[in-house]
Amino acid sequence: AIMPTLLSGIANGARQGILFKNGAQLEKIGKVRAIAFDKTGTLTTGQVQVSQVIAASNYTEIEVLKTAAALESSSEHPIAQAIVQAARDLNWVRATEVQAIPGQGVVGTANEQQVIVGNIAFIQKYVNKLPQELLEIAPSWEDEGKTVVWVAQGESHGDEYQVIGIIAIADMIRPEAAGTIARLRKLGIEQIVMITGDNQRTAESVAQAVGIDQVFAELLPEDKLDVIRSLQHKYQTVAMVGDGINDAPALAQASVGIAMGVAGSDVVLETADIVLMADKLEKIAAAMELGRRSHRIIK
Ligand code: ADP
Ligand code: MG
Repeated sequence: AIMPTLLSGIANGARQGILFKNGAQLEKIGKVRAIAFDKTGTLTTGQVQVSQVIAASNYTEIEVLKTAAALESSSEHPIAQAIVQAARDLNWVRATEVQAIPGQGVVGTANEQQVIVGNIAFIQKYVNKLPQELLEIAPSWEDEGKTVVWVAQGESHGDEYQVIGIIAIADMIRPEAAGTIARLRKLGIEQIVMITGDNQRTAESVAQAVGIDQVFAELLPEDKLDVIRSLQHKYQTVAMVGDGINDAPALAQASVGIAMGVAGSDVVLETADIVLMADKLEKIAAAMELGRRSHRIIK
């Protein structure tokens, strides 16, 4: 009796806040041998906050925050929201001609200057020499799992861009993340990896804290998809857990795409095969157990 078994598995899942798109997904998750986790919003809460600001010489921390907020007020990225929130009591004017470059940062015009806000690789496209004192601080923030946002400005069309400061963005690791990873290992999952657009050092700090030993960092959305594909070559049935639009291609490619339901964007919820309603990571292990049980009863 295939149908009643799958139905009861699906109903059982629904009672725990695990929504399966259909019975095939319940069966498939029981066969998963490798799983990839997005970092921001998935292993962490994604409710990011500014934790530190340091200005380069000749600038002030207030100027750094105001300049960054002028650009980030046009971006939807969680980092942008954190910066605008931190600058809420300062007076700044929204930048014009703002362009967001996914996975890198934003550029625009503020105070008659061209301003660049983003990760170090992005900033280095504009600035030749980064201030030594900031280059020394940034890695120490990354080792604490924080993301470093660089802010630079210069004359439009000129080549005299200067870094004015750096901002540390802190996120909180979900309290159940490490326990979930340990439980997945106990279930015999052969490979557990992290895939993220964030930098390598920050990613490794979070991975170490939750017990993941393989990290793929600084990825664009298409790169995330490629990682899933290569895992499928080796392990056939691969699950991916994510929350953001940048995870959608990877979720679609995965044998089982799992979305965080509360944090997830609409695109992600539509793409996913399984939705975790209360963002409870430990439900992934519960879903696998349900899936395995359904095989045993069907056979
Ligand atoms: P994730 O996979 O962690 O969700 P994204 O692909 O959205 O990351 O972004 C990767 C990196 O690009 C971020 O960690 C950040 O350094 C930079 N970045 C992207 N958008 C912005 C922005 N609006 N402001 C500052 N930095 C940004
Ligand atoms: Mg995310």
